[in-house]
Amino acid sequence: MWQDRARCLNTNTELFYPPRRKGQYQESAEEARKFCFGRDEDEGLCPVIIECLLFALEHEEVHGIWGGLSSRERSGLRTRLPKWLQECDPESIRRVQDAVVGTTEATPGHQEET
Ligand code: SF4
Repeated sequence: MWQDRARCLNTNTELFYPPRRKGQYQESAEEARKFCFGRDEDEGLCPVIIECLLFALEHEEVHGIWGGLSSRERSGLRTRLPKWLQECDPESIRRVQDAVVGTTEATPGHQEET
């Protein structure tokens, strides 16, 4: 399973569900994104960042950080791909675009563990 190769394996999943309270979300989300995008250029992207993002898209996940993206950013994939994704291999980009096209209205309250 792709989850076995996740950089966030054995990390408290709460980190990936930042509090929505104003002033607290950004700092917590940035801590989570360090796992996804790497702490520096040498570390690079999480080895399963595409699989993680696809999982969230295919399950219409409306909560949390998946593939380094918030729910709002995942919704935004319909109009614009983030820079890190544009630099991925064409097959990964195609898979994400296919998943975005197949995404329908989200189901509030549905939540999966990472
Ligand atoms: S991309 Fe997904 S699996 Fe990888 S660290 Fe981020 S949340 Fe975890």
